[in-house]
Amino acid sequence: VEKSSKRLTIAIQKSGRLSKESMKLLEACGYKFSLHEARLLAHSSNQPVDLLRVRDDDIPGLVMDGVVDIGIIGQNVLEEVRLERAATQVNNDFSALRSLDFGGCRLSLAVPKEDDYQGVQDLNGKRIATTYPYLLQDYLRRQGVNASTAILTGSVEVAPRAGLADAVCDLVSTGATLEANGLVEKEIIFTSTAQLIQRPEPLSAEKQAIVDQLLPRIDGVLMAKE
Ligand code: ATP
Ligand code: ZN
Repeated sequence: VEKSSKRLTIAIQKSGRLSKESMKLLEACGYKFSLHEARLLAHSSNQPVDLLRVRDDDIPGLVMDGVVDIGIIGQNVLEEVRLERAATQVNNDFSALRSLDFGGCRLSLAVPKEDDYQGVQDLNGKRIATTYPYLLQDYLRRQGVNASTAILTGSVEVAPRAGLADAVCDLVSTGATLEANGLVEKEIIFTSTAQLIQRPEPLSAEKQAIVDQLLPRIDGVLMAKE
């Protein structure tokens, strides 16, 4: 499918923790969209910009492969996909445009509260449940810890009680979910906010002009909120 070289395609999360703030940011930059729940693609009514709304996990790959021009994605997912693609020799280039002020969270190691945890070395030989196996193994390698993983795309926090793992490596913002599951946060392995990224290949002149207009607007919005 040949997309227009004149309209900029922006990927954002369809529904989840980044969706509302991503839309708010683009609207604050002056773009108007009318969204139809069932449609992936929405055209801006006042700018040569199209919005693609997808699962957040798909956004880094869509940008790295140049399927979309720019995207808004959590740094945690971005870095996980980058490491995974590096390990499997799939192109993982992108260009970082702006670090945004929403979607803040941390990826942390947590263990059952009854465990006598002294330090990360205690995880040697253990199994850790996570949705982020590459970020986790990258951290463990740097710490010199040898642990295996149980990869779960959801319900990570129930894995220890279910007997699937000894510990978890999961996203945390308040810690309430960990606590509700009898887990205690022990190590922060990655801190994250939403990022605005661009595909690695140069944009057409028309698209570049749109990005050149968008970035100062984003800076203005970020500045006004400080
Ligand atoms: P999708 O259906 O698009 O795959 P998801 O369930 O994977 O959605 P969300 O829970 O909506 O993802 O989280 C999206 C992103 O929001 C996370 O990857 C992270 O960057 C950010 N985030 C901020 N706070 C939290 C939190 N407390 N828990 C999880 N993610 C958070
Ligand atoms: Zn996701």
